[in-house]
Amino acid sequence: MVSKKWFVGVDIGGTTIKLAFVTLDGDIVTKWEIPTNKIDDGKHITSDIARAIEEKREELGVTNDALKAIGLGAPGFINMESGFIYHAVNIGWKNFALKDELEKETGLSVTVDNDANIAALGEMWRGAGDEAKNLLCVTLGTGVGGGVIVNGQILHGVNGMAGEIGHLTSITDESGAPCNCGKTGCLETIASATGIARLAMEGVQKQPDSILQTVFERQGTLTAKDVFDAVKAEDELAKSIIDEISFHLGLALANLANALNPEIIVLGGGVSKAGDLLMNPLKEQFKCFALPRVEEGCKFRIATLGNDAGVIGGAWLAKQG
Ligand SMILES: [Zn+2]
Repeated sequence: MVSKKWFVGVDIGGTTIKLAFVTLDGDIVTKWEIPTNKIDDGKHITSDIARAIEEKREELGVTNDALKAIGLGAPGFINMESGFIYHAVNIGWKNFALKDELEKETGLSVTVDNDANIAALGEMWRGAGDEAKNLLCVTLGTGVGGGVIVNGQILHGVNGMAGEIGHLTSITDESGAPCNCGKTGCLETIASATGIARLAMEGVQKQPDSILQTVFERQGTLTAKDVFDAVKAEDELAKSIIDEISFHLGLALANLANALNPEIIVLGGGVSKAGDLLMNPLKEQFKCFALPRVEEGCKFRIATLGNDAGVIGGAWLAKQG
């Protein structure tokens, strides 16, 4: 038996749970996934995680005390101190004592935060954050998630809601699209993959003479990727959609930056794969609304850890705990 000291990073999603053993310096030793078992309102998830960790430990032939602690990210509204989940819609948890249950199952100490926050911590520690202490992390995926790091710590706010960047209001009149949160006109309804697809499908109705229209007729639907592909082909409609997204995202990020003065803004999630096609117009808009000294001090980066950000951020949390 080899004696090692590792943290366990766990990132719970709606369909899979990502796990990793991570060294004290944030290197992944091994990573794997198990399905998210939502039967009985998700009450088997903690025993699934405990078994998965135990099996992996035995497979690697390391001793029982090799694992120091668990850091875990979960979707939903979480009380950081108690590790209590008030509500996680995608999983079925309601008033679930996640920290206590997992500590009971594994005998290890467990620290819990929400999934967007641990991804931000992962990028800060070992990704695009470059160990900056003041960092904004924005995930442009199906929704828009966010993490705000101030002086090296995630900002939680009074009841855990800090960093909900996706629900900044972008459209204040009646043209705002409905959001999953119950409001209308949130940034998420524009700058997420879903929002971009919606804008594209509305666009082809108004401006039928475009590459996007041809793609729409062929596929019957449009995705964010279709829009960026059409921008590469110089499609005017697609360019106008990206301009609209860049305006709203640039305005929101500049407003946040004027308040928080971050060193780095990290963009992650599927939409960030568009790279400079999004980054260039976005930076231009950001410059229009950020104070000159705020803009000078702030660098934009694309997230580098991909799906590993959560487990690495989980390990960082475990390390602090
Ligand atoms: Zn919203």
